[in-house]
Amino acid sequence: MLQEVAIGQKSLADYASIVGRETTERIRELAEPLRGKRVLHVSATAFGGGVSEILYTIVPLMRDIGLDAHWHVIFGKEEFFEATKLLHNSLQGAPETLSDEQWAVFDEINQINADGLEGEWDAVIVHDPQPIGLRRGAAHKGGKWIWRCHIDLSTPNPAPIARLLPLIEEYDASVWHMSQYVPNGMGAHRDAVNIIPPAIDPLSPKNMAFSREDAAFICQQFGIDPERPLITQVSRFDPWKDPIGVIDAYRQVTEQVPETQLAMVGSMATDDPEGREYFQKTYEYADNDPDIKILSNLNNVGAIEVNAFQSQSDICLQKSIREGFGLTVTEALWKGRPTIGGNVGGIPLQIEDGISGFLVNSPEECAARSLEILRDPGLGKTLGREGKEHARRLFLSPRLLRDWLDLLNRIET
Ligand code: UDP
Repeated sequence: MLQEVAIGQKSLADYASIVGRETTERIRELAEPLRGKRVLHVSATAFGGGVSEILYTIVPLMRDIGLDAHWHVIFGKEEFFEATKLLHNSLQGAPETLSDEQWAVFDEINQINADGLEGEWDAVIVHDPQPIGLRRGAAHKGGKWIWRCHIDLSTPNPAPIARLLPLIEEYDASVWHMSQYVPNGMGAHRDAVNIIPPAIDPLSPKNMAFSREDAAFICQQFGIDPERPLITQVSRFDPWKDPIGVIDAYRQVTEQVPETQLAMVGSMATDDPEGREYFQKTYEYADNDPDIKILSNLNNVGAIEVNAFQSQSDICLQKSIREGFGLTVTEALWKGRPTIGGNVGGIPLQIEDGISGFLVNSPEECAARSLEILRDPGLGKTLGREGKEHARRLFLSPRLLRDWLDLLNRIET
């Protein structure tokens, strides 16, 4: 019933020159007692979003070091995914919540997936709220059960979190990006909470090293002049990512440095009406300015193009008003680009203000910091260098792999 995701091959050895041999050796040590263990990751989808991005790297790396790791996606139907989208929003504070009928669909689909779970597993790692009910329905199929939360549950709507807490408590361990995201009321499970931030894969097409010429060549095909300054924000068209504030900041920059260009790159799911609406709003706000390029997967912008825009930029922005972790920040830092982020969520974990980038609270601050960088290329280089080292130390996939192995050992999988 659950679908196995076909994953490619990755080799830990390829990462040694990036993160250092000490880290890869430590990973091999931690993997030794777990050799041959059957570990299953379960998520709602294999397409788009941070969860699948991470699993396409972590699962093959787990296999490479001797674990028998697999990834299954759950079966769902439209009403289920409508309910889980509402659940996702309400868990992050939105006022509307699921009706009794929607909870019934949620429970029913979780039960169907629990019944359909095949095989015996030493550890089952369930990602995000959609499949959270799997453990209740299939407890006998797994040795240890871990719930991996990728979202911020610190200010949830009370009704859905009350439904979720008893389900979380049944897991042997839970994993969160940041301690601030763990909700109140965890009871005894609090001791089973683990904080593990996410990471990016430095060898994936989105993050692998590009020459300046290749990046420029790709950006040129989207109308960017590589001789003029470029500011880029990569993110979904969503009010929390503040695309309107980005345009405001950009307009203030062009009063001083008129040749500056802005690229706003955002993926657009065809089934996301909210995203489409906000895309339209952003588009209208840009008011046909030829130096503002608003691009999405509908223009064929995929991982390689995102990489090119980030690599080519004089400044990468993530001017969020609210942010889970902000993988786009990690991606920009890893490319050594001076990065300016909103002072929210996981962004301050990644940027130390004035050292490895800048943190800002308004379009005005964002414009002022952008102008500082545009006027002083030496400053941009220093920030970029520091940011890259910070990302290398803390936010690349081998570190995430090490933390997973450490946890699997600790809970005696
Ligand atoms: N992303 C992308 N194309 C886009 C917009 C976003 O590939 O047009 C990717 C981006 O590179 C990052 C992820 O989607 O890897 C977004 O993760 P982040 O944590 O920044 O934000 P979220 O969308 O999860 O809130």
